[in-house]
Amino acid sequence: MAVLEGLEFGKSDFVLLDEVNIEQFMENLKLRFEKARIYTFIGEGVVSVNPYKQMDIYGKEEINAYRGRELYENPPHLYAVADAAYKAMKRRAKDTCIVVSGESGAGKTEASKYIMQYIAAITNPSQRAEVESVKNVLLKSNCVLEAFGNAKTNRNDNSSRFGKYMDINFNFNGDPTGGHINNYLLEKTSNNDRYSHNAVLSALNVIGFSEEEIHSIYRILGTILILGNLQFETDRESVLVVGMGDVSHIAELTSTEPDNVTKSLLYRTVATGGGEVIEKGHSEKEACFGRDAFTKALYERLFGWIVGRINAVIEVKDYNPVLHGKNTVIGVLDIYGFEIFDNNSFEQFCINYCNEKLQQLFIQLILCQEQDEYRREGIIWQHIDYFNNQIIVDLVEQPHKGIISVLDEACLSVGKVTDTVCLESMDVKLGQHPHYTSRKLTPSDKTMEFHRDFRIRHYAGDVTYSVEGFLDKNKDPLFQDFKRLMFNSSNPVMKEMWPDGQLSITEVTKRPLTAATLFKNSIVALVEKLSCKEPYYVRCIKPNDIKSPALFDDARCQHQVAYLGLLENVRVRRAGFACRQAYTRFLQRYKMTCENTWPNHLMGTDREAVEAIVTQHGFQDDVAYGHTMLFVRTPKSLFTLEQERAAL
Ligand code: ATP
Ligand code: MG
Repeated sequence: MAVLEGLEFGKSDFVLLDEVNIEQFMENLKLRFEKARIYTFIGEGVVSVNPYKQMDIYGKEEINAYRGRELYENPPHLYAVADAAYKAMKRRAKDTCIVVSGESGAGKTEASKYIMQYIAAITNPSQRAEVESVKNVLLKSNCVLEAFGNAKTNRNDNSSRFGKYMDINFNFNGDPTGGHINNYLLEKTSNNDRYSHNAVLSALNVIGFSEEEIHSIYRILGTILILGNLQFETDRESVLVVGMGDVSHIAELTSTEPDNVTKSLLYRTVATGGGEVIEKGHSEKEACFGRDAFTKALYERLFGWIVGRINAVIEVKDYNPVLHGKNTVIGVLDIYGFEIFDNNSFEQFCINYCNEKLQQLFIQLILCQEQDEYRREGIIWQHIDYFNNQIIVDLVEQPHKGIISVLDEACLSVGKVTDTVCLESMDVKLGQHPHYTSRKLTPSDKTMEFHRDFRIRHYAGDVTYSVEGFLDKNKDPLFQDFKRLMFNSSNPVMKEMWPDGQLSITEVTKRPLTAATLFKNSIVALVEKLSCKEPYYVRCIKPNDIKSPALFDDARCQHQVAYLGLLENVRVRRAGFACRQAYTRFLQRYKMTCENTWPNHLMGTDREAVEAIVTQHGFQDDVAYGHTMLFVRTPKSLFTLEQERAAL
């Protein structure tokens, strides 16, 4: 049975800090980490510090302790947040989402897994076979996505190279009936050897992949391995593949013609100004560039296809709202947090833009929805200042003058536009923006070239981006010839992955969408999905860079607290009422702490009885009375009541 923590473990909710400042925040975070309290609330969200050791807090006993309870009735835990989301979904038929963020290695994927396991554990008490099978597929899909989408990096042995959003659908009983996964693959990785594991094979089987499909997956992985070692050489002006054995091997694995493989590796088809279509031989450098883009694309398409297949299996079928009641959703988002490296490039730009959007959503949901509820309940809202980051979102995404639009313009313009030229046009359009600056660095002795970068003042801190490579990364780097090669594969699974291979070269040269725009569109769609849901937050922190369970690196942690915007979160939280409870429920739980209400109150209404309890404990300044519920500004008051109740 979970018990409430004593004061020696610090404040269990950051909202309880005497003052919201970085010193107090860090002191509390560190104290709790050192006492093996890895979770701390911020209102209905939780901050987690990666323990880098197995914690004995995820067992059946804990699951039972958190099940169906209010947040402040137990110590902070992921389960408390998962349960709050589940309760809102089940009791109030609200769609909810749990947003898990933090930097690489901070524990997002682990947290998402514990959340999923918790939801699986508390649902389907009657063990119905069809619900069991949905739960099974949902859990197994994690294993498959990790096998194909994770890689060992120097920051994390099991790093997810993709962002993931999973919707879980529930029927009126609160049992899962299906789900849907969206992936936001940013970094395309290959030479990953995890797929050989038996667990993955068995997961693929459980999900329902056919023998043919599994074979095709292995063939593509084999192709990727061969491409990884494939070399070119130049012999008297013409470029050749070193070792033609590899070419026939690739042709065999991809069910294509060896001649076509060679051709797509060495030539590209281009449309001339006059509408003529010609074949142009690659230079050795271009051939290498094409090979790498092909390898990455094979991997990306495979991953996207696997996600699509899983979705086809878990998609809710035959759901009749008249017969089955309202279908509700809990979404779980496991997405890269803010990134600030020594050298920040296009990837960090995308990731940080995504975090600005999520912060904007947080502000809108928490503040706007709160205000609506206060209005409904007749509570007077007192505005408290916080930083609204809409201005930064606009800087990035505004049509015609935002950074993405300038980038796209540069990518789509004919003629040679360099990264530096692109930066200059950004300066022209955005030079006056309060959150944008750019600079020209003094040339280093060797190159005598001006190196240029730009800086965005993000809500979580300043980040300097080097523009080098921005344009290349923003363009679709894959030659159409590879797409056509794969579309012509006689393997139906592979053909299915490359539908755009059927386009003719003249169709393709019409303005393709750029990487930044595709990413922006997917994030806008994500935010739209999230914005109609009640949000819960899990903010993950990585305590050190050496995966040690004992080290709390103050500087590293403080940095993350800053860029996760945690102080802002606490401020936004404190701007409203952290907790609320219907009068009847409040009375039921706390009536024994007040002589005027125990065992029964003789007052006219429940509200008056609640007032008696609040006044007796002296926190009348911390609450407001709504039409049907009590609003409590800080959870401190409720913690006091909980402690008193436990002591009786
Ligand atoms: P990335 O962005 O690179 O995917 P991540 O935030 O998803 O990183 P995880 O893979 O969840 O990070 O965590 C990294 C490692 O930290 C895990 O493999 C595990 O060893 C450890 N870890 C994280 N959370 C916990 C936990 N709650 N208990 C024990 N170990 C944990
Ligand atoms: Mg991860």
